[in-house]
Amino acid sequence: MTKFMIPGNICRILKKIQSSGEQACLVGGCVRDMVMGRRIHDWDITTSAGWEKIAGLFKKSAATGIKYGTVTVFYRGTKAEVTTFRRDTGYTDMRHPDDVRFTPELKEDLARRDFTMNAMAMDADGGITDPFGGMADIADRVIRCVGEPDRRFLEDALRMFRALRFSAQLGFEIEAVTKSAIVNNASNCKYLSAGRVRTELLKTICSDRPEVAADMFEMGLLGDFDGDTATLHKMAERLRKLPKSGDLRLISLSAAAGRALNISPGEFLERLGCGREVKELSGAFDCVPCGSAEEIRLSCGEYGMKKTMAACAAGDTILGGSRYRLFKEFVRSDLPHSVRELAISGRELMALGLSPGREMGDVLNELYRHVCRFPEDNNTEKLIKLAEMCMCK
Ligand code: ATP
Ligand code: MG
Repeated sequence: MTKFMIPGNICRILKKIQSSGEQACLVGGCVRDMVMGRRIHDWDITTSAGWEKIAGLFKKSAATGIKYGTVTVFYRGTKAEVTTFRRDTGYTDMRHPDDVRFTPELKEDLARRDFTMNAMAMDADGGITDPFGGMADIADRVIRCVGEPDRRFLEDALRMFRALRFSAQLGFEIEAVTKSAIVNNASNCKYLSAGRVRTELLKTICSDRPEVAADMFEMGLLGDFDGDTATLHKMAERLRKLPKSGDLRLISLSAAAGRALNISPGEFLERLGCGREVKELSGAFDCVPCGSAEEIRLSCGEYGMKKTMAACAAGDTILGGSRYRLFKEFVRSDLPHSVRELAISGRELMALGLSPGREMGDVLNELYRHVCRFPEDNNTEKLIKLAEMCMCK
């Protein structure tokens, strides 16, 4: 009996490959997460078999990365990414191996992986291959490079982001030599694609320790800047109070970086390759409501729900407070969220002699502002009276 619970269908995939005379093991994040008792979100298998053989063994598969020897296998409602054992080759561009070389050796495949905790394999019976001390590092809660950190970060600068991202997700410390190699090599992160960096940053800020994003700035992974990373750290800690929504937390982080490090939030989001919608919301910081529920309701009327939500989240991150919670309470309430939800319509205003257009819009806005302050006045009779008063002004 193995002490690790490999789901039945994943185990069957491993055994099916083995019974064809090849080696097959789980590898990487799924082994690490199994050892740690964490939820597993994807299953990676490493095998001595070539992709053609794997594709031939299973009725349903997709060639998701055959250049790298990867086939996705679908089996009775489960799927696994199956990749042929590979070994490290040179990296001249600091992010892509120059060449893909396959190997018959499991250990060589493990040696190309980034951290000891990610360089373990597990066979179908739960037997673990751990040539670099991953189990001990997991027990000590330490992130350590496989091999010499300087060289590994020079090969692929993304590994520096990954080290910090895993420390945020798992609560592990980065081992001292690995950490100083990150500082030494940080400037090479400028060669990384925006998308790869964004993915790691989003995983970091959506973890239980979003403040690790401030360490990314401090260690120089996110570029050069002047400013106070201790303040940024304190602000990034406040992201914990926001829901784990990538866009919301990223907009708030960019606002915090703008405040603490003098970075332009819009440019920061642009460099990360964020879409137009996210970048537009970064303009919401100009309208951060002061903390009262009434101000937040007014802001919704003036700037709309989306901008107000972003402004509340950014405001809480920079200044502290509970704007976001108040915003959510307002969203869930029966109160009108815009002029369209007032208990009076254009028809009733026309009956008072108002014609559609600017004049009517001004009256509706005024009524909305009134209802933000006095929600109990949102009934047709009262609003008609108020509209008449507006018209007399
Ligand atoms: P998670 O999926 O939970 O984010 P993971 O460890 O599974 O974490 P993946 O990006 O899915 O991360 O990669 C799977 C495995 O591939 C890793 O565990 C690691 O062994 C290896 N790996 C991924 N990226 C790199 C890299 N840049 N350098 C070296 N090995 C890597
Ligand atoms: Mg994974």
